[in-house]
Amino acid sequence: MTSEFAQPTLRLTESQYATIIGNCYDGLPNEACGLLVGPLGGNAEPTGAVSEARPCRNVDASAVTYTVDPRDMLGAMRAAEARGDEIIGVWHSHTHTDAYPSPTDVRQAVDPAWLYVIVSLRDQAPVLRAYRIRGEGIAEVAVELDRG
Ligand SMILES: [Zn+2]
Repeated sequence: MTSEFAQPTLRLTESQYATIIGNCYDGLPNEACGLLVGPLGGNAEPTGAVSEARPCRNVDASAVTYTVDPRDMLGAMRAAEARGDEIIGVWHSHTHTDAYPSPTDVRQAVDPAWLYVIVSLRDQAPVLRAYRIRGEGIAEVAVELDRG
């Protein structure tokens, strides 16, 4: 169900997009993950802009699950704070399935403000999609690549 929580549009620079996709391929055969840092708007929700895409270690070292290394989480929190930004989301790869949240992804999606980016490496070309997840609700958000 698409609803009003499917905002904002996630805006990635080409460089951030390349960082995310590269991190996902580097993680093979396991799932890879990383954190998105960016500003919040006046409503305390992410604006969709990303100031930094930070690759993180997947401490699960698994092809089917991921857990962001807590040290990387702490590093990202500090980097965000230094910018006056927040962690606004997380990406991870799906090595053999669609770029759509798995039941585990939905269960683990604890922050309703975050953008959940999933990169599918199943096909020859990577597929990157982004979602909000609230409770059992999944809403896809648009992704724009900034070529500027
Ligand atoms: Zn997943």
